[in-house]
Amino acid sequence: MRRVSIFGATGSIGRNTVDLIARNPGAYDVVAVTGGRNIALLAEQARALRADIAVTCHDDCLEPLRDALAGSGVAVAAGRAALIEAARRPADWVMSAIVGADGLAPGLAALETGATLALANKESLVTAGPLLMQTARDHGATVLPVDSEHSAVFQALVGEDIAAVERVIITASGGAFRDWPLDRLARATVAQASTHPNWDMGQRITIDSASMFNKALEVIETKEYFGIAPDRIEVLVHPQSLVHALVGFRDGALMAHLGAHDMRHAIGYALNWPERADLPVARLDLAKIGQLEFRAPDPQRYPALELAYRVMELGGLAGAALIAAKDCALDAFIDGRIGFLQMADVVSRVIDRFSGNNGPISAGIDLDTLARADHLASCYAHEAIARSVEEQA
Ligand code: NDP
Ligand code: MG
Repeated sequence: MRRVSIFGATGSIGRNTVDLIARNPGAYDVVAVTGGRNIALLAEQARALRADIAVTCHDDCLEPLRDALAGSGVAVAAGRAALIEAARRPADWVMSAIVGADGLAPGLAALETGATLALANKESLVTAGPLLMQTARDHGATVLPVDSEHSAVFQALVGEDIAAVERVIITASGGAFRDWPLDRLARATVAQASTHPNWDMGQRITIDSASMFNKALEVIETKEYFGIAPDRIEVLVHPQSLVHALVGFRDGALMAHLGAHDMRHAIGYALNWPERADLPVARLDLAKIGQLEFRAPDPQRYPALELAYRVMELGGLAGAALIAAKDCALDAFIDGRIGFLQMADVVSRVIDRFSGNNGPISAGIDLDTLARADHLASCYAHEAIARSVEEQA
């Protein structure tokens, strides 16, 4: 039986992972499941999967978790250190689906055991791609992409020589405002930005999709995961979101990956890799779909994209700064302190300050350095937000 652990089991990716594992109960020995505040679901998952341990990242959720699992035989624990300890428990396959920078430490701990890490947590690659990939190499571990675009690129590269790749194109739905007149964008409301044209996701990722900050992170993820040079990575707006990515080769061939909007495809591919197995996802009827559209992203509509290329050029801690600044700017937009377009302005100002000659950009990357960069970028972001608010007044 394969030993598996699921970090962030109660989230959107985590629930889809649990769904696939629960369909084939004889095949898996579940080691750890982790969550945050959704204790009822975490306990239900731990019981259903007969996990060895359930962990919540919040200390104050330990007692409710203990109560919910009383008599089940499942061990319980809470807090960041407990998450890392759970990641050190031997497992063959570990899903990294915690949201945000907190996903990095458990992911590194799992790689240090030599496990295969199915990586949904894109923030890990953006903040510390070189550290993550080097840790995998040092311990003979494997990282498999779960973000749908990167799973698509990974699949298009099977049997290919990476040296023959000329370009990688990741697609973007274009988000809530893809067809809005540009002059309306500055006045876009939180409610408008929180409505995705193609699917239902959490509010933060939906707004990141409208602003294309999500795609900006995915461009960096492409560089870090596949080692593709920034000038060979392109973004293409594709409103139907059925082509997830394309890989262009030196002979001009373009390999596209198509699939339904269902994260269980990418999760299931990582779970069954290197084989393919039956998955409960819809099959595309292209004759019925009829048309697929593509357009170049307008830099004025999506200023976040240009920031991704600046961050890649800077390297070092710029990715950590991007994640921290983006999260602060997003909070400020959701709280009504800054407008939609000011999110990119704020992040741009933070990146500029980071790239000053005396900035910490060239420092070596380890977890302490990253924590300091996160703190510094958040401070810079709060100052930039305050300036934006003043400028508006
Ligand atoms: P969700 O917000 O739905 O779930 C996040 C999970 O992490 C939950 O289990 C949550 O617990 C837990 N969690 C929250 N904060 C912390 C913390 N500080 N420490 C430890 N655990 C925490 O996120 P998604 O599933 O949507 O996304 C997970 C990751 O996958 C993200 O990095 C995202 O960018 C990426 N991704 C998501 C896609 C999607 O379709 N959703 C597609 C591609 C990538 P609880 O809910 O119990 O509080
Ligand atoms: Mg994606």
